[in-house]
Amino acid sequence: MIDLRSVNKEELESMVVELGFPKFRADQVMKWIFKGKNSFRDMTNVPDSLKLSLEKIAYIEHLELVRMQVSEIDGTKKALFRLSDGNMIESVFMKYKFGNTICVSSQAGCRMGCVFCASGKLGLARNLTPGEMISQILDMENATGEKINHIVMMGTGEPFDNYENMAKFIRLANAKDGLGIGMRNITVSTCGIVPRIKDFAEEFNQVNLAISLHAFDNDARSSIMPINKKYPLEELVRACKDYNRLTGRRITFEYTLIKDVNDDIKAAKKLVSLLKGVHCHINLIPLNRVVESGLDTISRDRAKEFADSIESMGIPATVRRELGSDIDGACGQLRLSKNIN
Ligand code: SAH
Repeated sequence: MIDLRSVNKEELESMVVELGFPKFRADQVMKWIFKGKNSFRDMTNVPDSLKLSLEKIAYIEHLELVRMQVSEIDGTKKALFRLSDGNMIESVFMKYKFGNTICVSSQAGCRMGCVFCASGKLGLARNLTPGEMISQILDMENATGEKINHIVMMGTGEPFDNYENMAKFIRLANAKDGLGIGMRNITVSTCGIVPRIKDFAEEFNQVNLAISLHAFDNDARSSIMPINKKYPLEELVRACKDYNRLTGRRITFEYTLIKDVNDDIKAAKKLVSLLKGVHCHINLIPLNRVVESGLDTISRDRAKEFADSIESMGIPATVRRELGSDIDGACGQLRLSKNIN
């Protein structure tokens, strides 16, 4: 069976033509799909005969909303969705001045094993399909009644570990006959799977790239992010410079401040020298509490001081606004949920 939330216009057209219907019917079906409808019954301008034929070969993915938590601090909403095979994923809806943003998960679980992050604690269950990523947006819109116009791929999972599905998702999200979200309104965050940075630069030179750095040298980075043993900092930094050259765009580095691990002035200096020659911006995230990690966070004031010292050495830096902390909706707190209560 084919998931219609995973197919693009051309694919849908050839399905429709193969079933013996004129091409323009694909337009109509596609409009309903991206309006968030998940039943053929809703497609009032589509002939019953086409609906019947489609039903035999295709279905429309949708996620079951198990729970919606709303932050009392800032109105951020975190949805727990059940996938059709029973796996659970989380997505977060945030309101910013510039627009409504969704934080999308790319995998159920994650196999990167970063020590400070809750999302990988249970390992990887499986990759999400493009339709399951699209569904997070459509079903979040259905649940909140709000239109979403910005995407950050900063939920559970490593997007570059599920590259092809992520790529198709971005194309569908961007397509005029898909969600119509501008490439520049989409941000992908990676822990640094180096070969994919080049692929991404070539294919998606308008999409924002964020890289989770979190450390200033290989020893420090390898001890908290196992991926660094495979792709050490020299390779990562080289790929970032290539990215700058290929796209002409700036990279955002995410740097989670962990008390006594990477938060002193020596760390700031080393960080700045590591990134010399990379066109970038540093986004500092005071570590969000994840009980199992045993790591400590620092105050926002200390984070601002760290930002100031980095800026004084020549790299723009900001402290990320923390949204949804009271519902465990902040960075690194989303997880593959096994049990619901
Ligand atoms: N796998 C991708 C996407 C995850 S994005 C990546 O690594 O970039 C989520 C961001 O939150 C990443 O920068 C991640 O390193 C960061 N993060 C994870 N755990 C965190 C925590 N406990 N506190 C603050 N940030 C965290």
